Amino acid sequence: MNIMNEFEYETDLKLLGEVGRVSRDALDYSKHMIKPEMSLLEIASNIEDFIAQRGCSYAFPTNLSINEQAAHYTPSYDDDMIVKNGDILKVDLGARSADCITDCAITINVGNEPDKMIETCDKALEAAISKVRAGTTMQEIGRVVDDVVTLGGFTTIKNLGGHGVAKGELHAEIFIPNYDNGDDTQLEEGQVIAVEVFITTGKGYVKEGEEVQIFQKAQGMPRMREMREIAQFIDENYRTYPFAFRWLMKQFNSEFRIKATLNELLRSGALETFPVLVDDGEGIVAQSEKTVLVERDSCKIIT
Ligand code: MN
Ligand code: MN
Repeated sequence: MNIMNEFEYETDLKLLGEVGRVSRDALDYSKHMIKPEMSLLEIASNIEDFIAQRGCSYAFPTNLSINEQAAHYTPSYDDDMIVKNGDILKVDLGARSADCITDCAITINVGNEPDKMIETCDKALEAAISKVRAGTTMQEIGRVVDDVVTLGGFTTIKNLGGHGVAKGELHAEIFIPNYDNGDDTQLEEGQVIAVEVFITTGKGYVKEGEEVQIFQKAQGMPRMREMREIAQFIDENYRTYPFAFRWLMKQFNSEFRIKATLNELLRSGALETFPVLVDDGEGIVAQSEKTVLVERDSCKIIT
C-alpha cells in the first residue's frame, strides 16, 4: 500500500486533522480524569465514551498498561484491577473516522506529577519529531531517541518502535526504531507516521505475556452457523480493526459463545491476537507517541 497516495487528498488530511484533535483531547482528558483507586474498566470506558461523544470510532481498544507492562493490555470485561498512587500507566489510544486513523500515547504517574522517566520519554519523542522531514532516515531518528534516553539514565526498548499509519491500516510499511539499527530508509513527504518511544529501567526488550484481550479479524466466516452471528458482528462493527473481548461481552454477554467463536476463527487463520507485552527483566516502562504528517522541510503534528 502506497501511503503517499492514500493521503494525498485534501479531504482526507482535513478529516485526519479532526480525528487528531479528538485523540489529543482524549489524552488531555485522561490526564485529569485518572485518579488513584479508579478501576481500569472505568478509565477505559470513560476514554472510549469521550471519543464516541466527539463523533469518532476507535482505531483500536484503549491500551492501559501498568508498570512492567509496555503495551496491549486493555481491561477484561470483569477486570478488577485498580490503579494505585505511583503506578506508571501508559494510555495508548486511537480514534478513527471513515478510514482516517490516529495512534497516540502518554504515560501517567498516577496521582503524581510526571517523574524523570516520563519526562525523559517525552523529551526523546520531541527530539525525534524535531528530526522528522522528507529524507530523514530511520536510523537518524533512532539515534536521537537513544541519545536523549541514555543521557537521562534509561534504556530504549529495542523491539518496539514507531510505524507508518496508512488509511485503514494501523501498522503500515515502515518501522521506526528507538536506537540506531542501521536502517537508512528515508521518510517521504506526505507519509503519515506514528513516532513512538518506549523506554525502560530494565534491559531494553519486551516479551509476550500470557494474557490476550485484543484481537483483529481477517476475512472469513466460521463454518458452524451458531458462530456466525458473532463473526458477522465483528465484520460489521470492527471490520479489520483491532477489538477488545469486553466489547463483544457488551453485545453478547456469553463468555462461552465468544470464546468458541474466537477459537474457531483462530483455528481457521482468520484471527490475529495481540498478547500483552511485558518488560523482559521486570523493568518499569514509559511510552510517548504522536501521529505526524511528514512534510518537505518539517512535519505537522496530527495528535
Ligand atoms: Mn499506540
Ligand atoms: Mn503505535
